[in-house]
Amino acid sequence: MISKLKIVMRILVTGVAGFIGSHLCSSLLGRGFEVWGLDDLSRGDRGRVKELEELGLRFVRVDIRDRVEVEKALREARPVGVAHLAALISVPESFEKPDLYMAVNVEGTRNLVSAANEVGVKRFVYASSAAVYGNPVRLPIDEEHPTKPISPYGESKLLGEKCVLNEFRGSAFSLRLFNVYGRGQNPEYAGVITKFLERISRGEPPIIYGDGEQTRDFVYVGDVADAFIQALTSNLRGAYVFNIGTGNAVTINQLARIIIELAGLNVEPIYADPRPGDIRHSYANISRIKSVLGWQPKISLEEGLKRLMKNFRSE
Ligand code: NAD
Repeated sequence: MISKLKIVMRILVTGVAGFIGSHLCSSLLGRGFEVWGLDDLSRGDRGRVKELEELGLRFVRVDIRDRVEVEKALREARPVGVAHLAALISVPESFEKPDLYMAVNVEGTRNLVSAANEVGVKRFVYASSAAVYGNPVRLPIDEEHPTKPISPYGESKLLGEKCVLNEFRGSAFSLRLFNVYGRGQNPEYAGVITKFLERISRGEPPIIYGDGEQTRDFVYVGDVADAFIQALTSNLRGAYVFNIGTGNAVTINQLARIIIELAGLNVEPIYADPRPGDIRHSYANISRIKSVLGWQPKISLEEGLKRLMKNFRSE
């Protein structure tokens, strides 16, 4: 009799207590992966980690600035792939504390890459950001678009990305995420969707900065988790940069209208002064990842918002 041997792939996710990392972790566990999660819990949600531990997550509390502890965790976990999402993510805070952002987002990434090389990790997937492009000079933004970040946050994400692409010895993937939305975004650093929903849930109209005709590319967190999983399980060799968005430009006015309509409220948005440093238009060209990795988003903005609003009501 031939016994069927099930090979389980082991993945280590950094930033597992955070918004995207926790979604990725729960998708991986749901698909039968063995998952180790790393976070220093400086920003994430300990409760979420507890829930994931009940589903099988092995959690290690480590600050990625600590090279020795990072290597110790990787030696213990011995993952095939690393998904690196731990980072500090606030653009305004990065202007106040640029050195801290460099230490966590750049040195922390370098620590992970060098430790991953030491223990023979095969694939490294890095959460980069559309912030690496800065103000777009052409639209939609493809991966060959010049990179000119306009904040220390964007700069730190770009330097982290370069480290992964140039120094990791296995297959390296940098996923440049556009505007990710979904359940569990840290309210302090939340994007426009969470902010609109918070006001709408109190029956208040959303606040729009500027004329509302600025565009963004909103991608659902479940689709983002799928992109990570496809990169983590791909047989591609080499170093790759992919945009992760939908390719659809949505104005903030359109977004506000959809949310107001879905909530069934009879309110009009409030307009406030534009915020200095806000990029006018941003949306992705996602042809590269579609053709190379076969990934594309599945959840429309309306569907994603409906799912999110259901959660908002039940929380
Ligand atoms: P988040 O703040 O919810 O999660 C980040 C996690 O990293 C937190 O749990 C925090 O505790 C952890 N962390 C911070 N410093 C650490 C350190 N020194 N050591 C270990 N862990 C540390 O952020 P998120 O929205 O889930 O973002 C995840 C990744 O995706 C980040 O790398 C971010 O740059 C990138 N990204 C996010 C978006 C978005 O729309 N949310 C867009 C582009 C890129």
